[in-house]
Amino acid sequence: MKAAVLALQGAFIEHEKKLSSLGISCLELREKSDLEQSFDLLVLPGGESTVQGKLLRELDMFDTLKARIEDGIKVLATCAGMILLADKIENDQRLHFATMPVTVKRNAYGRQLGSFYTEDQFKPLGKIPMTFIRAPYIKEAGKDVEILATTQGRITAARYKNQLALSFHPELNDDLRLYEWWLREKPLP
Ligand code: GLN
Repeated sequence: MKAAVLALQGAFIEHEKKLSSLGISCLELREKSDLEQSFDLLVLPGGESTVQGKLLRELDMFDTLKARIEDGIKVLATCAGMILLADKIENDQRLHFATMPVTVKRNAYGRQLGSFYTEDQFKPLGKIPMTFIRAPYIKEAGKDVEILATTQGRITAARYKNQLALSFHPELNDDLRLYEWWLREKPLP
């Protein structure tokens, strides 16, 4: 099993460390030619969605990755990654992959510039650590989107078919349960 981790910007190394510790080999996606290698999983890390979206287009990686997502590759998207997947962004005009029927709000969860830690329910696992950094949340979820966490009244985790989107950063906490769950789950029909 091989995971491709988008490595243009943001917190990608932390995901690689978590996945490697579970025996998953990781490939960093830095340029178009990296997409020629085979991989079975895709990780879209936190960072700045505007920068990532721009680099994906400039480096001509956008269409291939969008097609892989539409083809059903299993995706784990955290924070900025959630914004890349959303098909509507309330406070940004530019959309990116737009493969997940959710409306997100950027920089919306918690204090504007703040980050915070909490422990809350993630439906499949119970209480897990959650670190939020200028996080988006899901304002509206389309039909067939399964809501997996609602933290302080906001949707902070959801999945749709092959795509799991999290407002928080599991890669920053010392807890592997979410990754273990993600690796063993089958995509929703
Ligand atoms: N604020 C970032 C954005 O809008 C997301 C923050 C994060 O990924 N930690 O893209």
